[in-house]
Amino acid sequence: MSEIITKENYRLVLGLEIHLHLRTERKMFCKCSADIWEKTPNSHTCPVCLGLPGALPVPNEDAVKKTQVLGLALGCKLNKDSRFDRKHYFYPDLPKGYQISQYKQPLCVGGSVELDSGFMAEVERIHLEEDVAKSFHEKDRTLLDFNKSGLPLVEIVTKPVFSDVKDAVDFCKKIQQLVRFLDIGDVDMEKGQMRLEANISLRTREMEEKEDLFDYKVEVKNINSFRFMEKAVIAEIERQLEVFLNGDTPIQENRGFNETTGKTVPQRTKEDAKDYRYFPEPDIPPMVFNDAYFDELRESIPELPHDIKRRLVENYGIKKTDATTLVDVFGLSIVEKFENYVKSGLDAQKVASILINRKETHEMPEDEFKDLIVGKKDTLDEDTLVEIIKKIIDSNPKAVDDFKEGKENSIQFLFGHVMRETKGKVDPENTVSLIKELIK
Ligand code: ZN
Ligand code: MN
Repeated sequence: MSEIITKENYRLVLGLEIHLHLRTERKMFCKCSADIWEKTPNSHTCPVCLGLPGALPVPNEDAVKKTQVLGLALGCKLNKDSRFDRKHYFYPDLPKGYQISQYKQPLCVGGSVELDSGFMAEVERIHLEEDVAKSFHEKDRTLLDFNKSGLPLVEIVTKPVFSDVKDAVDFCKKIQQLVRFLDIGDVDMEKGQMRLEANISLRTREMEEKEDLFDYKVEVKNINSFRFMEKAVIAEIERQLEVFLNGDTPIQENRGFNETTGKTVPQRTKEDAKDYRYFPEPDIPPMVFNDAYFDELRESIPELPHDIKRRLVENYGIKKTDATTLVDVFGLSIVEKFENYVKSGLDAQKVASILINRKETHEMPEDEFKDLIVGKKDTLDEDTLVEIIKKIIDSNPKAVDDFKEGKENSIQFLFGHVMRETKGKVDPENTVSLIKELIK
């Protein structure tokens, strides 16, 4: 490669790998309970998820289905023939010496997510695998907890399409939101239920035009918050730029993000696919799905956030940012309220603005909310109003005298009483002139 990277002409090339836990009753290949949060270490284990020799895995149908639901929601193509493969690597938290994952025939391929910037982020594939155990490193020993071993783990891999870290962060947020919306997982990052990895390399603007890449990428692993994602990527860009400016090319490796120093640190040199010696999992038969099953899944998917937002803008003409707030911040129940109000004849943009700016209106009874929008109506009939005003005039002789002596303010005092007595269900102008009339 003859192109030279400089601070002025570099472009980011970023692809994402997102791992997330599905919410299932049981683990991926055994009958152990998947409810492991804060449970006694190694209390949720069996020969399968401990990786004992001879133990046989049986796939969790619910996990397969939830992965496919996610795939459909992201516009993926679902493979009719899918299978599990063994991915070999040695690590203490993986006693089998391999992870059951998917390689050549994942459950879902393709798909995309439209981001806030308008950028369409393309998904490469979504596959299903098993999580590994958790290691606790102490001074002179490492402890292992196998409760997490064998939990259903979905991996979403994007194409290396991001040139802006903000888009990458937005993609991750949109995935978290979607998984929660579909109600297939909690994806709580603090509980490790969603983990982010970024494959990062740099190239020149000229290379971007020719769609050329350097033949390295650095994988920054196990990022556990959206904020750290942004920091880690920026730190890694700076580090790689430095390497280029010194006349070298960064090496292909895995790095971790150190939250204290704000820098990435080397972990291990990155394996190629061939190092994993993938081969079909011989203990699990291939999975075969038909169109009828896929149709059924498709029908089970609710209207998605993205489509709801589009519909709110197109059908009711409200601002796009307001549609986004209603859907993303307040959720389905408020969207439903919004639509009901608009269908009953209220102005859509006014309804949206009030729901967004005055949260107390979310719990308001319907007629009160309507009064708020259309302005208070003279709901009391004139006779009743006259009776109330007469009563107030009789019980406030001083204010009446004051008014007669020219103190205009005392009308406001009497008016206040009327408002309180009628709970505001009067026309202010009409009421003031009625008071003046009745005092004479
Ligand atoms: Zn088990
Ligand atoms: Mn994985």
